[in-house]
Amino acid sequence: MPEINLKCSCGKVRGKTKNVNESSGTRIMCCCDDCQSFAQYLEQESSVLDQYGGTDIFQMPISYIKITEGMKQISSVRLSAKGMYRWYTECCNTPIGNSMGSGVPFIGIIHNFMDNTSSRDEELGRNRGHIHEKFARQEVPTDLKGSSLRIIIRSLSKLIVWKIKGLNKPSVFFDDNGKPIAEPNVLN
Ligand SMILES: [Zn+2]
Ligand SMILES: [Zn+2]
Repeated sequence: MPEINLKCSCGKVRGKTKNVNESSGTRIMCCCDDCQSFAQYLEQESSVLDQYGGTDIFQMPISYIKITEGMKQISSVRLSAKGMYRWYTECCNTPIGNSMGSGVPFIGIIHNFMDNTSSRDEELGRNRGHIHEKFARQEVPTDLKGSSLRIIIRSLSKLIVWKIKGLNKPSVFFDDNGKPIAEPNVLN
């Protein structure tokens, strides 16, 4: 199981994951409108989204992420007052990932922040398919569609195990009082 290097596109923000592989998390292509809006907000649609408007995401425990350089560049946005925290780097608008509040041991790391483009399938397995495809920008071929139900069951059962193991801490994104390290810009 490899550690995966994390890096924004300009290289100011760097980090590492713990040793992970396919079974440590869930790799999906999320076509939902919120993930598309996030890419749009960062003006990174062409580097984040595939032709269907899908974002390649690896859901994993938030405590498995370590940032070694450039902490000050990390910023966040919420698409609505109760929306997910969407983390990105201010230096070059690289999306980092999506998380819930500090009590939830989960982050969906976006492919752009993982320095593993050429070894991604080998390290994290092939993605489990496109979900929320009703928001897709073009018809998703049947063989690329994921079973939303199967993926939700997998994600939830992992989340329960991570919660029991207390993998919401330590978190680089929230302090000990559960406050986000960067106050999110809340959009309407
Ligand atoms: Zn950067
Ligand atoms: Zn999404």
